[in-house]
Amino acid sequence: MYKPHITGFLMPESLEQMPFGPSSPAGVIVEGNAGWRVQRPVVDHEKCIRCQICWCLCPEGAIDRAIAIDMEFCKGCGICAHECPKKAIIMEREGDEQA
Ligand code: SF4
Ligand code: SF4
Repeated sequence: MYKPHITGFLMPESLEQMPFGPSSPAGVIVEGNAGWRVQRPVVDHEKCIRCQICWCLCPEGAIDRAIAIDMEFCKGCGICAHECPKKAIIMEREGDEQA
């Protein structure tokens, strides 16, 4: 199994250096969700202002800098939707998504 290289904490000097997100060298993800998610986030990109608060706060690093969410790693906690200042993310019950 792939495990990310773990490094010591370095205080970031800019947003670009923040150690979050699935594309960071250190990474925060080691495994996908276990399949118990009951809700999934849906982003309204028309409302989104790309403030990247959700990217910073997602505990699974499942949101990338383009505000695309990797459902393999999202656990459906809803933090992104709760913290979005523009209410651009809604939580949708699993199974209700449109085909
Ligand atoms: S927190 Fe909301 S407005 Fe900000 S980037 Fe995420 S979806 Fe967009
Ligand atoms: S619901 Fe939770 S795990 Fe999924 S993208 Fe939002 S903050 Fe991340």
